[in-house]
Amino acid sequence: MHRRLIAPSALAACLLLAIPASAADHAPGAPGIGDPYYPASGNGGYDVSHYDLRLKYQPETDLLEGTATLLATTTQNLSRFNLDFGLKVDEVRVNGKKAEFTTSGEQELEITPATPLPNGASATIVVRYAGKPSEVEINGYTAWHRTPDGGIAAQEPESAAWWFPSNDHPLDKATYDVSVQVPNGSQAISNGVLQSENPVGADWTRFSWRSDKPQATYLATLAVGKFDVTTDTTEGGLPVLNAYSKDLGEHAGAARASIERTAEVTDWLTEIFGPYPFNAVGGYVPNVTSGYALETQTRPFYSPKQFANGSNVSVVVHEIAHQWYGDSVSLKGWKDIWVNEGFARYSQWLWSEKEGEGTAQELADYVYAQHPADDEFWTVEPGDPGPDNQFHAAVYDRGALALQALRNEIGDKAFFEILKGWPTENAYGNADVQDFVAYAEKASGKPLADLFDTWLYQPTKPSAPAAAAASLSRSDAEPERPKSWKQIQRTNSVHDHDH
Ligand SMILES: [Zn+2]
Repeated sequence: MHRRLIAPSALAACLLLAIPASAADHAPGAPGIGDPYYPASGNGGYDVSHYDLRLKYQPETDLLEGTATLLATTTQNLSRFNLDFGLKVDEVRVNGKKAEFTTSGEQELEITPATPLPNGASATIVVRYAGKPSEVEINGYTAWHRTPDGGIAAQEPESAAWWFPSNDHPLDKATYDVSVQVPNGSQAISNGVLQSENPVGADWTRFSWRSDKPQATYLATLAVGKFDVTTDTTEGGLPVLNAYSKDLGEHAGAARASIERTAEVTDWLTEIFGPYPFNAVGGYVPNVTSGYALETQTRPFYSPKQFANGSNVSVVVHEIAHQWYGDSVSLKGWKDIWVNEGFARYSQWLWSEKEGEGTAQELADYVYAQHPADDEFWTVEPGDPGPDNQFHAAVYDRGALALQALRNEIGDKAFFEILKGWPTENAYGNADVQDFVAYAEKASGKPLADLFDTWLYQPTKPSAPAAAAASLSRSDAEPERPKSWKQIQRTNSVHDHDH
């Protein structure tokens, strides 16, 4: 997805000097993909199309070992290139030949192929590795959850480096085959469809999963543990697979009462957002102590704490909505987090509206009234919140307010056409906030730059005079609290991060 820009003069020089490639013409790939929020994330010089992960995991010791095979295409003449990875590497091969490698920075694996790679070449990169993910800390934090019966990789914006080497940024999406051998009695859960479950000798079982549409690295997940698994098919014909740790205790009932409604939620969202983009759907609840949920592709991760106060279908709506907004249409840079979270939060408002627990307008009025003009909430700009505020409540709530303002400005017909058209037009790609603004202007035929500037980019509480905001502050009376409010608030820890 990421293409390095070639300056016209450099291109002309290449064409004129059609000399055979030598090492001198080749340069190292950049150690980051160019995201100012996370400069070390991803790498330059190549694009991965497929990850094949063949692993073995021992729950008792947390030892993860195996082989990752990456299919890549170079986007420049490469003398060496980086992968992002935290575990210990034993061997690297590029196109079958042993490559030299070393580590640098917090997460960089620097690989020097035996012969330099020309621009546009396909490269097969094989990395053999072994280590304990729970011992890996990158920038002082870990994305790996150790549980009493196994381990789980699920974090945002990064979790891949704890379990496989990658070009770790949503700009470079790829398909996945994840095959994991675990002791009998344990299961390995990942994204997509379970292709096979086969015994290996007397004591082990191998689970092989396939995610056959482009998937960002942070949306790849692995969960090893002891799970109760339920399977079903949606009305639309999609395979559903949910997994619950056998160890959920008092949260088990509420977790199931929520996540078993995934098929219903998916069919409902399909009516709003258009065709579901992937080959499977579901969710899993491991016995972790964290509080958040994450939209891992086709199979969201839910912490048991999400269900501590009873069932919460609203969080399921949030994570399944991300399958369109965030997973199929991924952000270009982490500053564009609103194209994920504004819409996932708004989908919770639409669910509330459908369930008769408060319309989106009532929720918008309530949120608007909750935060006085001097509230720090209004200083966060959802369109570019900064890395420290990437998952601030304002990205969600003010982000959803922006969509309600849009709905009021252009009317329901145009608004819902946009909600469906955007994920269809941008399926499996990347987009930024300005791409959405341009799309909404084109689709509605209205100038909307001022409206989005007011709601996404100004560090102040939008005031009444703006036409789009009129209904949000139409009365001085304190709006009544919508019935769904508490449940939606409970999902506010969906992206509470440990770092
Ligand atoms: Zn979210």
